[in-house]
Amino acid sequence: MEQNLFVYNTLTRKKEKFIAINPPHVGMYVCGPTVYSDVHLGNCRTYISFDLIFRYLSHLGYKVRYVRNVTDAGHLEGDAGDEGEDKISKKAKLAQLEPMEIVQKYTIGFHDVMRIFNVLPPSIEPTATGHIIEQIELVKAILARGYAYEVDGSVYFDVEKYNKTQDYGILNGRKLEDLINNTRDLGGQDEKLGKLDFALWIKAKPEHLMKWPSPWSIGFPAWHLECSAMSAKYLGQHFDIHGGGIDLMPTHHTNEIAQNVAACNKNPANYWVHTNMLTVNGQKMSKSLGNSFLPYELFTGNHSILNKGYSPMTVRFFMLQAHYRSTLDFGNDAMEASEKGFKRLMNSFSLLDSLVASGTTEVEIEPLLLRCYEAMNDDFNSPVLIAELFEASRIINSVHDGKLKINSTNLELLKQLMRIFILDILGLTNEQAAGDDLPKVLDMIVELRGEAKINRDYATSDKIRDGLQKIGFQLNDGKEGTTWSKI
Ligand code: AMP
Ligand code: ZN
Repeated sequence: MEQNLFVYNTLTRKKEKFIAINPPHVGMYVCGPTVYSDVHLGNCRTYISFDLIFRYLSHLGYKVRYVRNVTDAGHLEGDAGDEGEDKISKKAKLAQLEPMEIVQKYTIGFHDVMRIFNVLPPSIEPTATGHIIEQIELVKAILARGYAYEVDGSVYFDVEKYNKTQDYGILNGRKLEDLINNTRDLGGQDEKLGKLDFALWIKAKPEHLMKWPSPWSIGFPAWHLECSAMSAKYLGQHFDIHGGGIDLMPTHHTNEIAQNVAACNKNPANYWVHTNMLTVNGQKMSKSLGNSFLPYELFTGNHSILNKGYSPMTVRFFMLQAHYRSTLDFGNDAMEASEKGFKRLMNSFSLLDSLVASGTTEVEIEPLLLRCYEAMNDDFNSPVLIAELFEASRIINSVHDGKLKINSTNLELLKQLMRIFILDILGLTNEQAAGDDLPKVLDMIVELRGEAKINRDYATSDKIRDGLQKIGFQLNDGKEGTTWSKI
């Protein structure tokens, strides 16, 4: 399977030709969400980026086993994920629910949001709590090879010892001394021997809710361990791609590599792929900074910084207009521009079936098709791809207006190009095409609601809006009137 795909690899800090270990199979592991609260739009950006990668690899003919876990235990509050309270247990106590009720609620919520954004489900979605035995076995292996130590029922990874024979900073490009100097002091409160050491197994305090027996204590596995254990279980000790947001790279992924190398002498993945952050006014969108918003708030426009709501596919399009390794700043103007661009693209897409071929052609589609593949082969460059699709859209409009002739071979190629890249690879759906007559019916309802508003009959106008939302249609009020979209 000869492909000319180049992928940026954080391990080597350059774009490398993608060579699968065992073609046509590709193993890809992506760190999934910690299901203690609703996913915010930043999280969605990361999963939409990997959805693009998954879709493109599959389109190229690779049989991708895509594993994306669900973290349902062991992720503590501290920066490194192994200090403070367990995020899920904390939420469970506050809500007076079982931790597994929290897990269930937010896992379902996450799946709903992924479906709305047309993100394909992964091949396997393992949970941390479903793999306690594998994690205990991994701790045993690391202990047996001398890279971990036990203190009063908890087990810690010995980073300095590991770094004597291995390069702990292989992924983040940092020297151990620098990392040590930049880490705060333990203040004598900690059981860890070294400043950079991290927990593998944590002895549970009596009040801790989610705990399991182990050779060391009744406790729970630490966060980094689950990804090492589950990726190895489903993809083997050495697989193709490991991904996640760039914020996971310095600690979570660095520790994952150390665990796998310590246990079996193998860096688990050939290509480490990291997506960049969605920001708001230049700051990472995050729950703790209080600048995050939920997908539904964006769809409804129900948030203080939003001028109006945007449809899910507009949001997906907005995200794909940036390269996955660039930061993307959220803003009303950028969203408005994306909404216009997406409409323009989909309008021409809808015209495809009505185009008529001529006996001669004034346009060749093959060079455009090749440029689309070139864009995606260059580290999944979706913004360049979208620019090429706008070129295709200009051609469609010109043919439609009778300003350009196209023969049947080129017309077929144009149709294929649009379907492959818009639907299959970018994963965009035509929200306006909700059925033949449905758009007309919805337009009429929107008009009736507009009249109710003019008559100050707000009860009716709200009833219409809420009723449509319940059956999956979102109304977006803007300066130029009201539009509807499917959610
Ligand atoms: P978490 O549930 O906090 O473990 O995060 C789930 C995923 O979302 C991780 O891969 C993070 O890197 C990613 N993520 C968190 N915040 C953002 C953001 N603002 N932009 C893009 N990805 C993010
Ligand atoms: Zn992970």
